Amino acid sequence: MKTVYSDHHKLQSVETEFYRGKWVEAFEIPRRAQLVLDAVRRADLGPIVEPKSFDLAPVLAVHDPDFVRFLENVWAEWVAEVGPIPAYPNVWPPRRTRMIPTIRPGAELGRYAVDMSSPILEGTWRAARAAVDCALTGADFINAGDPSAFALCRPPGHHSGRDYYGGYCFLNNAAIAAQYFRDTGARRVAILDVDYHHGNGTQDIFYDRGDILTVSIHGDPVQEYPYYIGFADETGHGAGEGFNLNLPLSWGTDFSIWRTALDQAIDRIAAFAPDRLVVSLGVDAFEEDPISHFKLKGPDFVEIGRAIGALKIPALFVMEGGYAIEAIGTNVANVLAGHSSARA
Ligand SMILES: [Zn+2]
Repeated sequence: MKTVYSDHHKLQSVETEFYRGKWVEAFEIPRRAQLVLDAVRRADLGPIVEPKSFDLAPVLAVHDPDFVRFLENVWAEWVAEVGPIPAYPNVWPPRRTRMIPTIRPGAELGRYAVDMSSPILEGTWRAARAAVDCALTGADFINAGDPSAFALCRPPGHHSGRDYYGGYCFLNNAAIAAQYFRDTGARRVAILDVDYHHGNGTQDIFYDRGDILTVSIHGDPVQEYPYYIGFADETGHGAGEGFNLNLPLSWGTDFSIWRTALDQAIDRIAAFAPDRLVVSLGVDAFEEDPISHFKLKGPDFVEIGRAIGALKIPALFVMEGGYAIEAIGTNVANVLAGHSSARA
């Protein structure tokens, strides 16, 4: 299995983040990707390659053009008004507002950000574009016949919706890859999100689509970020009715329960019979994750990979979350090794 990796992710780097009322040491840091890369190397999973550069068309096939323009340009506008410090929102539009554009970067940050976890920095746009390039390059390997590929994306993407960003995410790498698969010949694509947090952005993007099935196993939104969305009765809309499956689970969920949800997810995907599978691969369901509340252990991640591999559908793994620094590499490599063993 090829791993696609770009050093550009290091451009997205902050020391601290705002968490439960305090500025704390940042969880989403460049070292995460470095440790995953090291573990992939150690596990000898296959070659590590640089991404190709793609134009903006695959991004615009998924995201709102005004939102994309904002992500590209807001840093320069922020620096001109405020100075070269991380750009955070601190004002949000109230419900039922008309959303008329403003000429102030602070107001536009609030228009598009859903939280304060994703500061925009000088290199954010380049880092986010490089992550998309990793996902699309991995998709091309699969289109060329590889049974699987791993896009080591950072920043992650699954919390980014059609026209919003948050949860450390800017552009939705997995969604962009799924749409790219459709645009390069796949008739049906499934996205399986195994990150601890609900893939709210991915659900938002494909909620009215019957050609892209979205499935997410995650912390119950009544008690867990991103809250508000990710409930079991959200099953899709219009042509997408029946093509969104949410499997929310309570804090304290261990692998025996989690595995039951995975079996449900896999049955649904098998019934959908997609040509391509995108896996939003977060490993924050791990028992020692500092911001999560599931109880999965290291070897469980091998099982997850195996179960996904048994589907025998060409699969693109796209890196999402995972914040237990000492274990993130092993947990990711375990999923990929499990998948490879099932496909062999
Ligand atoms: Zn997560």
